[in-house]
Amino acid sequence: MRVWFLTFLSALGFGALATSAALADPPTGRVLSVKFGGEGGATRVVVESDVALKYHVFVLAAGAQRVVIDLPRVRWSINGLTSEAGSGRGAGVVVGYRYAQNTATTSRLVLDLAKPALVTREFVLAPKKKDENHRIVLDLDPTTAAAFAEAAGGEQSGPQPVAKQVSRKPLIVIDPGHGGKDPGASSKTGVREKDVVLDAAKALREELLASQRYDVALTRSTDVFIELEDRVTKARNLGADLFIALHADAGSNSETSGASVYTLSPEGEKRVDGARKQNDWILDVEVDSSRPEVVNQILADLVQRETKNQSARFAQMLAVSIGEHGWPTLENTHRKKGLFVLLSPDVPAALLEMGFITNDDDVAAMTSDPRRKKLVQGVAHAIDQFFDSQTRIVAVR
Ligand SMILES: [Zn+2]
Repeated sequence: MRVWFLTFLSALGFGALATSAALADPPTGRVLSVKFGGEGGATRVVVESDVALKYHVFVLAAGAQRVVIDLPRVRWSINGLTSEAGSGRGAGVVVGYRYAQNTATTSRLVLDLAKPALVTREFVLAPKKKDENHRIVLDLDPTTAAAFAEAAGGEQSGPQPVAKQVSRKPLIVIDPGHGGKDPGASSKTGVREKDVVLDAAKALREELLASQRYDVALTRSTDVFIELEDRVTKARNLGADLFIALHADAGSNSETSGASVYTLSPEGEKRVDGARKQNDWILDVEVDSSRPEVVNQILADLVQRETKNQSARFAQMLAVSIGEHGWPTLENTHRKKGLFVLLSPDVPAALLEMGFITNDDDVAAMTSDPRRKKLVQGVAHAIDQFFDSQTRIVAVR
């Protein structure tokens, strides 16, 4: 989402943003220090650099538990010592850290964890004074082994070795609705929404990974209950470029059938600010404290408006594409609702009701691998279209 925001915002004259972290393609710089702090259970990690660095953070569960921060290729000058690779001691949940060049164009910082912990907050800071550096700040909070393994699941399931993955692929976060104590809707034969959507999410993940164009993460890959706000927070912490929630409808008329796509309604939009404050969702444009507050507010509004436009565009493509792939759709396939999982202010999002669990044929289609394949291919095609059109916008810049 970041690359095309840059285009969008520069077009409006906010050229200063091009130098702000995460939005621009920055010149390769120097990492100057990796520091640890925090109190109580949380550990704060601060990575200082001489220029703003684009970064991608994710967790790995293979072997030891690790948090990985991928950076563009940088020079490591930790505490004044320049070297190709090195390591240091951590604090809190971080036992130690290691760093090295990773690929021809990327460097990698690895935090080895004493116990499972996830990034619960992340932001960047630009220097306010002459002797200050650019900073990437991550807060790590201890979590359960199960939650850690789940967060690591999406990143690990790629067809290539994880070490080869770089941040350039768009990250698609798929959110199978319900789970655990919340079964969602059920068919009269006992087919449960929570199972149908999880199977579809996994099939969609396979389809997207096979294209090698995307990284994919699931908000849940097992039958567990997750709060709605945690689904959104998870997507944001992972740096999602697109969020797709999967559900199955229920109707009082068993004849009603077909898929529909939802984006945020105008009523829902009014809740975005509240959800943002309550959940500490910080926008990239809000972290530059050198700008007046009013400018940050304008930029935040622009980001929200652009996110809304992107979501609507994707929903439209999705509704058309699944129909074209031979999957039944409702009339007025693209609808609007004030759904909580669509409230993220800076991640384009849509919710797909795959079909009616109260309709026999929809249930048969949703539970049949070959029939569901049409839906999965329709969704994947829409995602391709969405990101293809983004690339074109950037290319004409
Ligand atoms: Zn549902």
